[in-house]
Amino acid sequence: MNHQSFERWIYQEANLDKDQTNKLEEHLKTCQACRELRQNMKEVSHLFTSSSLPSPQPGFTERWKDRLKEREKKQRVKFTGITLGIIIASTFLLISSVGGQLPSIMDSLPQVLFHSVTQFVNWLFFINQVTRILEPIIQVGIKLIPPAWYFVFAIGFSGVLIAWLFSISESLVFIRRYSDEKTQ
Ligand SMILES: [Zn+2]
Repeated sequence: MNHQSFERWIYQEANLDKDQTNKLEEHLKTCQACRELRQNMKEVSHLFTSSSLPSPQPGFTERWKDRLKEREKKQRVKFTGITLGIIIASTFLLISSVGGQLPSIMDSLPQVLFHSVTQFVNWLFFINQVTRILEPIIQVGIKLIPPAWYFVFAIGFSGVLIAWLFSISESLVFIRRYSDEKTQ
């Protein structure tokens, strides 16, 4: 057996029989070049096996979807709770800010409530749409977003906030107008 045939054996080591393996082991003891070649082969094959992507476990996608759905549901419940809290708090705030006109406000309360709830539901819907658009971006990773986008998001968010405050002030104007009509 010459050195070249042992080199060939090293490349196909997995297919060697027991006798061939023993002969190769014997040759490796005496040949530095073959030992190095074999070491390199091992490293390369390790690189291939370790760099291959691990395949997801069965049902992984379904579980992931379920988790997303569950999270979305929780978020929605939380969001609705917060919005209801804001509606109640702002209603109380509106009532207390026009404390002197309390009797007439009490008369118009159903209309005022209906009006503000309609406004808030509109905004709830809008904000929900916005978060639906933003969520995949957030999932992809905040780090991937260029800094300029933070600026855009900040402006967008301020816009939503301003519009929301505007809807409150509109409700206030509605109350004022309503109670003015009552007193005239
Ligand atoms: Zn050799």
